[in-house]
Order: sequence, then structure tokens, then C-alpha cells
Amino acid sequence: MHQSEACTVYRIFREHYGVTHPSERHFLDFKNPFEILVMTILSAQTTDRTVNAVKDALFHRYPDAVSLARADPGDVERIIRSTGFFRVKARNIIAVAGILVSRHGGDVPASMEELLELPGVGRKTANIVLHHAYHITGGIAVDTHVKRVSTRLGLTEKTDPDQIEQDLIALFPKKAWGEINYLFIRHGRGICDAKKPRCTECPVSGHCRYYLSGQSEDEGGVHKVTAP
Ligand code: SF4
Repeated sequence: MHQSEACTVYRIFREHYGVTHPSERHFLDFKNPFEILVMTILSAQTTDRTVNAVKDALFHRYPDAVSLARADPGDVERIIRSTGFFRVKARNIIAVAGILVSRHGGDVPASMEELLELPGVGRKTANIVLHHAYHITGGIAVDTHVKRVSTRLGLTEKTDPDQIEQDLIALFPKKAWGEINYLFIRHGRGICDAKKPRCTECPVSGHCRYYLSGQSEDEGGVHKVTAP
């Protein structure tokens, strides 16, 4: 897909889902950079709702990097158990807290390079933290919804999230990057379902390679749509 068509898709999504203030473009219920960093690490392979459900217990007991760095791993595991992969996640967030204390005075760094040095932090997490905690646009966070919607629309042919991010960065103007993650997640959750996309309700079906190729399944079965 060319830049002009990608921008048309972006404009349609904005009209469909509404233009949002940056402070409203997140799904994790965080209060500060430390919380969104920890919660984004915990959100791997689970839902934001599950993470939101454990955050009160976690941050009541460990409200900052200093307290979390000293935590008993077993206690953290018990609190975050429902998020899955809880042993690895507990180990990572305790280690992250330790690095925040030892290298950053207990604060969350505001640079991509420093965030990527933290255990369990990849570009997706770093982009989310930078965008929501510091309003810094460093790239586009690619999660499972962004990946699926981007692939179906024909915005990328890559499978690696970091490579997909580079394709998206090349297609959209920088001012759109912070919103792409939010809009694509809204679309992926609401209409472009992983198993059963509701293409007949989709506002960008006329630009979707998956739909136009006739691969799309809906309540009525396989669409027989030919590209214009
Ligand atoms: S047309 Fe279907 S597959 Fe394409 S983006 Fe819309 S819901 Fe997803």
C-alpha cells in the first residue's frame, strides 16, 4: 500500500473511532511512568483487563522501584499469577526495578536506548512507555492487534514486530504514529477480530487487501469480492 492510501485509512479510522487526546489513548489504568512500565511488561500474552485487575494489589504493596527491587519473588508471583508466565514476569519486573534504582535514581528513563536495556522490555513496551508516560513519539508500538490489522490491510508483509514497525513508520507521518497503535487496537478488538473479522461493518474494507482478495470470512461465509 502506498503512503497516500495508508493516510486515507488513517483518516477513516480517526473519523470512525473519534479523535482522542493522547491521555485517552491507552488501555492500562496507570498513574505514573513506573506503573505503565511494569504493567506493560505484565501485559505480554494476556489482556489489559487482567493486568488492570492485579495492579491495585501490586502497587499497594510495591508503589515504587525501591520497594519492588527489594520484593520477595514469591510474593510478586502470587499477586501477578493471573497474568500468566508469572515467574518470568516477576523476575523481570523485580530486575527492572533494581536497574531503575541503581542506574536511574528510581525513575523510569525517557529514552528508547535506556528502556531497551531493561529486562523484558522490547520496542513495543518502550514505545508505549515513551508515548504515554512522557508524550515522546519514538515509533509505533506493534502488538498482536496492530500486527493483525496491518497485515490484513496490506500495510506490511513482515512478521517480525520490529520490522512491521519500520514499514508502518515509512507509511504514516510522524504526527500519526502515537495514534496508530490506539486506532488499530480499537479496530482489532471491535471489528477486525482474529478469528472472525466483521468485514461487512468495516469502514476500511475498500482498502483492505485481505477483504478485496476474498479471503475474509463473515457471518455469511466467504466474501466473493474482486478487486476494483
Ligand atoms: S475488511 Fe475485514 S480483514 Fe480488512 S481490516 Fe476490515 S475487518 Fe479487518
